[in-house]
Amino acid sequence: MRENIEAAAKLISDADAILIGAGAGMGVDSGLPDFRGKQGFWNTYPQLKHLNKSFQEMASSDLFLVEPELVWWFYGHRFNLYKNTAPHDGFDILKRLSLSKPTFVFTSNVDGHFQKSGFNNNQVIERHGSINHLQCSYSCCDDIWKITRLPFKINNLNISIEGHYPHCPNCGGIARPNIMMFNDQWWVSGRARQQNQNFYDWLDTHWGKNIVAIEIGAGTEISTVRTACLHNAKNLIRINPFQCDISKGQIPLKMSALDALIEIDKLLF
Ligand SMILES: [Zn+2]
Repeated sequence: MRENIEAAAKLISDADAILIGAGAGMGVDSGLPDFRGKQGFWNTYPQLKHLNKSFQEMASSDLFLVEPELVWWFYGHRFNLYKNTAPHDGFDILKRLSLSKPTFVFTSNVDGHFQKSGFNNNQVIERHGSINHLQCSYSCCDDIWKITRLPFKINNLNISIEGHYPHCPNCGGIARPNIMMFNDQWWVSGRARQQNQNFYDWLDTHWGKNIVAIEIGAGTEISTVRTACLHNAKNLIRINPFQCDISKGQIPLKMSALDALIEIDKLLF
């Protein structure tokens, strides 16, 4: 393992630019759940196990139209959890790294924790959207707006909310997070398109240079982060305590995000 950490640190030192790819495993050391498998999801939300609702069912755009209280209870709980959780020290290590080398973040996480750690909006692509931004559930318009608090309280005992739903300022219908859900026909894509453009611009700027990807806690079930890292970087460091298979030339660190970043950091600064 020591050899791999040294190799990772050297790769980063020699890099022209850094692509950080972060999946759900990135947040685990902050104390956030990663919803690994059906049972993992129900360990976090035993109330939903009683209702036999999977993550896929809860992350459905249509649910806002048919069971708004249940689905807003779920997203409201997650909103509060992400808001009240401080990103772990690994985020600070990456932020410091980003001050010494051009850096872009590609994440599937919707918690906004890279921005919370000081990354600029224009250097982050949130591939699955953001829980801190809302849109109309019926996508009646292209509006996407930021929220810092919810207009209701969560009642965990009877899976309900106390207060009123967030509403679309245009049509008055129920609003929902601007998160890309499963089979999402209502997704409003303006913010995602801007982030995509920022990412392509960054890649253009560093075309042909030595881009090193640090892929952290990204699974294979939904492989957007892994794919982005593989396709856009010349070299790859894979940090993952569970699924750390690699191809030739890649560096595996079968560790948690925080442990790996602390060890790399010791050799960098
Ligand atoms: Zn609307």
